[in-house]
Amino acid sequence: MTPDPILRVRDLAKDFTLHNRSGARIAALDSVSFDVRAGECLVLAGPSGAGKSTLLRCVYGNYLASRGSIRVDGTEIVGADHRTVLALRRTRIGYVSQFLRAVPRVPAREVVAEPLLARGETRDAAFERADSLLDALGIPSALRGLPPATFSGGEQQRVNLARGFAAAFPLMLLDEPTSALDAANRRRVVALIEDAKRRGCAVVGVFHDEDIAAAVGTRRHPLEPVRRAA
Ligand code: ADP
Repeated sequence: MTPDPILRVRDLAKDFTLHNRSGARIAALDSVSFDVRAGECLVLAGPSGAGKSTLLRCVYGNYLASRGSIRVDGTEIVGADHRTVLALRRTRIGYVSQFLRAVPRVPAREVVAEPLLARGETRDAAFERADSLLDALGIPSALRGLPPATFSGGEQQRVNLARGFAAAFPLMLLDEPTSALDAANRRRVVALIEDAKRRGCAVVGVFHDEDIAAAVGTRRHPLEPVRRAA
């Protein structure tokens, strides 16, 4: 028997209301359905404007879907209250976007350890895990005590990935997390994603780099821009 999917999306639609254009509505997603199981990586494919980021944001609960259902380990996200969404983010869903939103003056090591501390792990365990991820992503020890605000784009992106992968979430959402990385660092990220898949993580990703998509993807889900007003 195949296991239940970690992520189950059914007939998902998202319309945006443009308040600065007399409330005009545009459709960004229409009738999207798929499942993602443990150990799979679903690659969202399609041209710019196809709704890839919007889809990830609906799953993370940043955007409220207009219709349809998104279940993570059986819990419905569409229409869920704020507390349910926050609990899912603390325990089940990791999200890595293209850019690090670092709080000024917080050192890199702490930025990475923070999601673990929020889950109640000890400082020792959280910082040990942070160091092992920063090692795996090639961030030198000399940088780890400094706030990432002054780091290069690629260094910030690697700190962001380390933070995203710090907790062993069952579902990881990746939105172009490697756009600023060179080939050696892209290989490190591929290894990180492969590790997560091996431990049973379900991954949904948008990758601007086709080689990464081919290396980590187990399936592709094509999206096309919705060509109608909502
Ligand atoms: P992709 O990630 O595939 O490039 P997006 O999800 O960014 O696509 O965008 C899909 C569509 O939704 C586009 O037409 C975009 O303009 C629109 N869109 C995305 N975010 C917003 C928003 N916050 N407000 C209004 N329209 C948006």
